Amino acid sequence: MIDFHCHLDLYPKPAVVISEVAKRGTYVLAVTTTPKAFEGNLRYVGDVSRIRVAVGLHPELVKDRHHEVGLLCATLAKTRYVGEVGLDGSPDHRPSMDIQREVLRKILGACVSQGGRIVSLHSRMAAPQVLDEIEIAGASALGTPILHWYSGSATDLVRAIDLGCWFSVGPAMLASRNGRKLATLMPKERVLPETDGPFGQSEGRSLCPWDAERVLPVLAELWGEPEQVITRTMKSNLRQRVS
Ligand code: MN
Repeated sequence: MIDFHCHLDLYPKPAVVISEVAKRGTYVLAVTTTPKAFEGNLRYVGDVSRIRVAVGLHPELVKDRHHEVGLLCATLAKTRYVGEVGLDGSPDHRPSMDIQREVLRKILGACVSQGGRIVSLHSRMAAPQVLDEIEIAGASALGTPILHWYSGSATDLVRAIDLGCWFSVGPAMLASRNGRKLATLMPKERVLPETDGPFGQSEGRSLCPWDAERVLPVLAELWGEPEQVITRTMKSNLRQRVS
């Protein structure tokens, strides 16, 4: 299966999760929350071929770590994958929105300079602002923006689709009625499974990368297609974006 947004390095025992990922042949996009974590993640992952490591700077950390944006942009030469980046407009992080926006604009600008980047974006309570930044950079100019765990309005979702965004959806998102409603509106040729583990949880336990397959029966029901067709679509979506 595929987990296109997972914080492998934040599990209590990353090595155990990584060896299970290797055994099961799960494809994982390992996002990071600071650019300094990128090299460490490469070492953790070693030669597990189906894991890709992304360089990120989580919007919740930007207030204290905005000076690391230069390192992130320099690291873009080493990876096609960027994340977790984005904006967070929830009450705790709204005060840093101006600096968050400045940092995201730099990152997306650097993605445009490199081109072809696959960018996993956080947009909690800031979907319109994130879409503004994607529009300024140009979605196709930067590569592929992927809105992870999208929780904005249906209207902004239509705008995201028009801008060319992709979406990663996980079991935690699909556990809510609103999450399922939004997933129904997403074009299935632009959706990938995720877990957001260890933050993404189900029944009080952190999701692991192989749990991403739990979205398949839910998406099958929402989209009115057999589960095997959905599985094939997800694999085909992955092949288009990952090399
Ligand atoms: Mn995340």
